[in-house]
Amino acid sequence: MLQKTNHFLRQANFIDGAWVNADSGQTVDVFNPANGEKIGTVPRSGGAETRRAIEAAETAFHSWKKTSAAHRATLLRRLHDAIMDNQDALAELLTMEQGKSFAEAKGEVGSSAAYILWYAEEGRRVYGDVVPSPWADRRILVTKEPVGVIGAITPWNFPSSMLARKLGPALATGCTAVAKPASQTPYSGLAWGVLCEEAGFPKGVVNIVTGSASEIGDELCENPLVRKITFTGSTEIGKLLIQKTAGTVKKVSMELGGNAPFIVFDDADLDRAVEGAIAAKYRNSGQTCVCTNRFFVQAGIYDKFVEKLSAAADRLKVGSGLEEGTQQGPLIDEKAVEKVEELIADATGKGGKVTAGGARHALGGSFFQPTVISNASSDMRFMQEEIFGPVAPVFRFETEEEAIKLANDTVFGLACYFYTGDLGRAFRVMEGLKYGLVGVNEGIITTVEAPFGGLKESGMGKEGGHQGIEDYLDTKYVCIGGL
Ligand code: ADP
Repeated sequence: MLQKTNHFLRQANFIDGAWVNADSGQTVDVFNPANGEKIGTVPRSGGAETRRAIEAAETAFHSWKKTSAAHRATLLRRLHDAIMDNQDALAELLTMEQGKSFAEAKGEVGSSAAYILWYAEEGRRVYGDVVPSPWADRRILVTKEPVGVIGAITPWNFPSSMLARKLGPALATGCTAVAKPASQTPYSGLAWGVLCEEAGFPKGVVNIVTGSASEIGDELCENPLVRKITFTGSTEIGKLLIQKTAGTVKKVSMELGGNAPFIVFDDADLDRAVEGAIAAKYRNSGQTCVCTNRFFVQAGIYDKFVEKLSAAADRLKVGSGLEEGTQQGPLIDEKAVEKVEELIADATGKGGKVTAGGARHALGGSFFQPTVISNASSDMRFMQEEIFGPVAPVFRFETEEEAIKLANDTVFGLACYFYTGDLGRAFRVMEGLKYGLVGVNEGIITTVEAPFGGLKESGMGKEGGHQGIEDYLDTKYVCIGGL
């Protein structure tokens, strides 16, 4: 089968430049969510393997941090080229373990390359300051230095690009890394080992360990050699990691859950709003932290919006990600399908009306129909919980103030979207929404040039933009006296 010959499929940890098994020899199986077939295994590693990876990263850090920014940029550009030269093979691996359509997987791999290139460039612009001194005989310098070894824990929904956002700035600044990919999608994570090896990064600069999330996570959080934890995943696990890093006072960046509102005002361009809604809801089968969780539609266009959104959802082509033309792949696993079913049952029990989909797809397995539920109300579970599936609950509202209040009525604050044709309203609503990312008349806004990151319980720190490098740097003040 195709997957067995994929050059990037590695079934071992990457520690100190070597491909190694878990000490115990134990493994974890990895399945293709589109057909349930086993793709292969990865090591079930724990604390000991992680400790060795951290020590290798610490050793490598001493020489890596002394290389020039220009040298690191050259290697990162090579890494970028290696990704782009192998975009199809990397996308195939991604689709196989994650389920998303090949087109989306290719897009993700392209975005990984873009992050690497961006940070190759940004790394050369890590400026310090020379500050006017209050003393005639002393000078003040402010310098930026790499924080050291970083621990990166990443989720299954973007198994390639979530690592790119972390490895890019880490490597550009002179940090070294120990990464732990999600157990459902470890191969796109391990592929970074192959790519870094081929691009010529020295051994120990990038290490990748698969296996027990809690054992690897505990070692990364508690080992004093690790100076920063960067995590993308659920708010629940993010909170746990923040607590665990407290003992060694590490820097933390957290990209956590969202509960994105998508507001459509009466004055919006309806067709544009529906197009944006489809992209913001059903991308990656609804399994992104910036996917719309709640649609709020003004009373005057509510019925028309529901009708058009439902028709557009019905037209989405569901299938295996590797099939031509597929727009929506399977959900990651059976548990994800059960959660979606539970949320729909909760909604219909409270007066919600299914206007598209609503059930498992005829393809079976973890395929689910793109679903729209009208008549959504605040007592339904979607109001507070992240759906992470292809379900669009549509709430009705009357006034601008009400929409802002409803949109902000959540502990999350990652992405939000709204559609209006009124410029004044665009500013008022943008300023009223407590979110880290705002799409105005746009449903997909993530790009490497802009800072991605949430407010409130959606996290802290930014990835992308020039801001995305700050978390990998320590600021040092130097006073030079006796001039
Ligand atoms: P999701 O709900 O999207 O799977 P999780 O937060 O559970 O998100 O997982 C995101 C990442 O965090 C994965 O790599 C997972 O293995 C890891 N993880 C889960 N539990 C822990 C833990 N206790 N300590 C460290 N990492 C964890």
